[in-house]
Amino acid sequence: MEYSMVIDGRSVTTGEWDDVINPAKGEPFAQCPRGTQANVDEAVQAAARAYTTWRTDEALRRQKLGECAQAIQQHVSDIAAVLSQEQGKPMTAAMAEIFGASMWFSYFANLQIEPETLSDDGEKTIKVVRKPLGVVAAITPWNFPVILLAWKLAPAWLAGNTVVAKPSPYTPLTSLMVANILKSIVPAGVLNVLSGGNELGATLAQHPLVRKISFTGSVATGKKIMGYAVDDLKRVTLELGGNDPAIVLDDVNPQEVTERLFWSAFQNSGQVCTAVKRLYVHEKVYEPIVKGLAELAKKTKVGPATDPDTQLGPINNKMQLERVASLVDDAKKHGARIEAGGARLEGSGYFYPPTIVTNVSAGVRLVDEEQFGTALPVLKYTKVEDAITQANATHYGLGGSVWTGNRDKGIALVQELECGTGWVNHHMDITPYAPFGGSKWSGIGYENGKWGYEAFTDLQVVNAKKG
Ligand code: NAD
Repeated sequence: MEYSMVIDGRSVTTGEWDDVINPAKGEPFAQCPRGTQANVDEAVQAAARAYTTWRTDEALRRQKLGECAQAIQQHVSDIAAVLSQEQGKPMTAAMAEIFGASMWFSYFANLQIEPETLSDDGEKTIKVVRKPLGVVAAITPWNFPVILLAWKLAPAWLAGNTVVAKPSPYTPLTSLMVANILKSIVPAGVLNVLSGGNELGATLAQHPLVRKISFTGSVATGKKIMGYAVDDLKRVTLELGGNDPAIVLDDVNPQEVTERLFWSAFQNSGQVCTAVKRLYVHEKVYEPIVKGLAELAKKTKVGPATDPDTQLGPINNKMQLERVASLVDDAKKHGARIEAGGARLEGSGYFYPPTIVTNVSAGVRLVDEEQFGTALPVLKYTKVEDAITQANATHYGLGGSVWTGNRDKGIALVQELECGTGWVNHHMDITPYAPFGGSKWSGIGYENGKWGYEAFTDLQVVNAKKG
């Protein structure tokens, strides 16, 4: 199959191609067009032209969002098959991601936004209305390429913006597929998707006609994006990395929570921005929880997406695999105990088994940095205040959770965590209607819900005198 970009309603290739690697094999399985700077300009100009009419008809936009939801649903299996090859996740997880993308389109198709009236008296009315921004650059990472694209397209379109998107060079194909499906639904120029490397993202983000950059990816790139936004005072939303703590109190039943903790850390092979990345467990329940996690790690089936028994796929790319391995090796050098896993699986695929690491503390890279892979440090604590202090001693602030038999206590304690979402007795539960974003270096701004919609608007105060 030949993959093509979408610019101004047309499928476009450039004659230059980049390999896309199947991480389960460690070898190329397809190619995507290498977008050029001229393509960026063409796409942004097309988006700017389309904006002039797209912004005027909200009813049409809602109808199109609904049609997009349906079209994606009709293609769940074909998109999921490619997603599992380019990203590595098992087929069931890939299908769940595509269904999720469709759900996000449906949600925004139906999100009702009322203007806010601040005063309405004999003299005047003052109300706040929301207005679109113009051309939005949407830049996405490789862990959830399809649903994270939907998180940007749907609210940006509802608000009346047009979009030029650039997926990660590791997982461009599913975004190109989505673009080619949706291009017959929305007017030309409303959706443009370009494939290419990091430099293409930089060109797009800096284009003077781009009014907003909606970025999901690493902290390092997020800081660059913020720099690009300065000259034109472009709006930015930055959804960046996390190093989520989960704090397990002494009153839990280890048998009840261990499996949920395990999957909160290892879903999508740990490549989730809000995966549990540091686990703090009270000394009273530490031993059974570590033992339970190690048992689960050993029996979890790691393999290619093509094997229906696979529970965890490979790490998406070689660089990330090497990073996970180096963090575990560094922990070993600092005296860590490996309770399960601990070394890359042999073969050409990028497989690293779920790895449970104990006897580590702050100061070891695996604890301090975002591993974004299949390795979990489990730290013992005595006093919950110390656990909270350690959990907050980081630049990250995406998510966090408290696990306890006393829900009210959990709700109070989780608010001590410096993070955008605090969960109690679960983790990583994300819905279209709740705002999602990070504090500190985990980001700026919010996606999802009315907050995600508002992030694609500027507000205007309409102050009208009566009489
Ligand atoms: P990355 O920052 O390397 O790349 C993300 C995207 O930015 C890619 O499309 C890439 O090509 C592009 N890019 C890279 N350099 C650029 C530049 N200078 N200018 C413009 N674009 C550029 O991140 P990644 O490795 O693809 O993703 C993993 C990271 O994403 C992790 O830190 C993870 O936690 C984070 N993430 C965050 C969220 C969230 O919602 N907070 C969700 C998923 C992933």
